[in-house]
Amino acid sequence: MPLLAKMASSLAQELLKRNNVYVENGHEPIPLLSEIGFTPKKMIFSCIDLRVKPEELLGLTDADEALVVRTASGTPARNLNDIVALDNLTTLTELIVIKHTDCGALHMTDEQIREHVRTHNPDIDDQVLNEVVVGTTHDIVERTRKDVELIRNSPIIRKELRETTSGLLIDITTGKLTKIV
Ligand SMILES: [Zn+2]
Repeated sequence: MPLLAKMASSLAQELLKRNNVYVENGHEPIPLLSEIGFTPKKMIFSCIDLRVKPEELLGLTDADEALVVRTASGTPARNLNDIVALDNLTTLTELIVIKHTDCGALHMTDEQIREHVRTHNPDIDDQVLNEVVVGTTHDIVERTRKDVELIRNSPIIRKELRETTSGLLIDITTGKLTKIV
C-alpha cells in the first residue's frame, strides 16, 4: 500500500499519463538528425535554479539557434565534453556562461556538500569524495570570470570556439543582464 501511494503521487507517473493524452491527440514526428542535421550553433550555460528562466528573461527564440544547458550555478565545468561532442555534430559558433545573483552556489560550500555525501554514504572513499566539486563561491562575479577562463583554457575545445566565450550575469531583482567578461 505505501508503495502504491508513493507511485500514485509521483510526478513520473503523472507524466506517463499526460504523455498518453498528448500522443492520443496526435504527435508530429520530430525530424531525425539524419534528415536535418544538428541545428543549434550556440551553447548557453545557465543555472538550474527554477526562478531563473533564461528563455523568458532573455527572450530567447528558436531563431537564435541556442541550446540552453542548465547546470548547478550555470557552470560548464562538468560539461566540457558536451561542448566538444556538439561541436563535432554541428560547428558551434558561440559559448555563453550566464550566472545570476542570489545563486544557490553562494549559499553553500563544497565542503558542506561533501559532508552531506559522507553522511549518507559513510563508507565512501576519500579520493572519490574529494572529486565532488560543485564550484560554490562567495563572489558570483569572480565565479563567472573563472568559468569563462575554464572554457578559454580548455585544451579539448577548438581554439576559435574558446575565444567566442562570454560571461554574463542576471540581477534577479532588476532582471537586468550585465556583461562580466
Ligand atoms: Zn543559481
